[in-house]
Amino acid sequence: MNLIEKKCPCCGGTLEFKDNDRSCRCEYCKKSFVIEKEANSNSGVDQEYDYQLNIAPSPFRAFFYIAFCLILVLVLFVFGLVFSSMFS
Ligand SMILES: [Zn+2]
Repeated sequence: MNLIEKKCPCCGGTLEFKDNDRSCRCEYCKKSFVIEKEANSNSGVDQEYDYQLNIAPSPFRAFFYIAFCLILVLVLFVFGLVFSSMFS
């Protein structure tokens, strides 16, 4: 298990994570990143990996998206009830 050091893409601070970690968090700017491990094709015998840091989507955004969809379905349902009672 190796400890990988990378520069934070957001603030340039030093990020440390283990080579089998899937995500990490910058302790300077508090941003979360998803770690993508890519085999480095330029290397010779030893398998080397490149570690790509992608900004993790905020869990709050997913929550708001789901809540918005639920409200939309609810509104459509209520509209359906109103219209069906109007025409019956
Ligand atoms: Zn940072």
